[in-house]
Amino acid sequence: MSLLKQLAETYHYEYHKNYLYINIDDYLITVRNYIDYFDPRNNGRIIYIPLNDPTQEQKEQLMVFLKANSLNLKIREYVIDDLNVLVIRLLEVYKKFKIEEFHHLINTVIKFLKDINISYEKVCRYCKGNDSDSTVIINKIKYHCHSKCREEFESKMKK
Ligand SMILES: [Zn+2]
Repeated sequence: MSLLKQLAETYHYEYHKNYLYINIDDYLITVRNYIDYFDPRNNGRIIYIPLNDPTQEQKEQLMVFLKANSLNLKIREYVIDDLNVLVIRLLEVYKKFKIEEFHHLINTVIKFLKDINISYEKVCRYCKGNDSDSTVIINKIKYHCHSKCREEFESKMKK
């Protein structure tokens, strides 16, 4: 069984077409399999965690933390992209991750986000307001949103 399916069954996470969706204290985490057809040594898992408007200082703290813990957490690469999504690639070249290791990694990162006050507070992907009541998947990554905002956005797209 694939790691993602195993995780979904063990921890009751949502699993849909090779994507794993996890909600820990309202932080939404998307995990996917990455397949490199040219160099299978690059195959592995990638984690996406949307961050709510982190300050430059918080971003730096996060980078320092990930650098210091990359071996212990078995992280290969990490970056905060232009849309403030934290992207983490697992280090899986020689050995597959165990589900316990994966669970530990996710929970350690989320705990650190809380420690430095990068809260998620269910911020809406569209209007940036709080108290989202729904979620939306954009480019396979799950975000919080207001159902009203999503409907408005979708009706604009249809025109
Ligand atoms: Zn909204």
